[in-house]
Amino acid sequence: MHVEYDRDTCIGMFQCVAEWEGFERDEDAGKAVLVNGEERESGRFVREVPGEEELDAKFAARVCPVDAIAVYDDEGEQLIP
Ligand code: SF4
Repeated sequence: MHVEYDRDTCIGMFQCVAEWEGFERDEDAGKAVLVNGEERESGRFVREVPGEEELDAKFAARVCPVDAIAVYDDEGEQLIP
């Protein structure tokens, strides 16, 4: 499973940070940071999610009010949002 995070869409409400340690706050920028995320294209970050963190990562994606976080399974099918 992997997540894709769209930093440009993020409005910095930080609900995701409360759900999964894979996101941290960047208070200065008013944006979440995807920890160990790899920037695939401008503002879009990707990272794999360890099995034991999958539930938390899914919650993080679900609570994002602007759908800045997408979750994909290993076949590339989008699960959330
Ligand atoms: S929940 Fe969404 S809008 Fe809020 S900080 Fe996380 S990614 Fe950004």
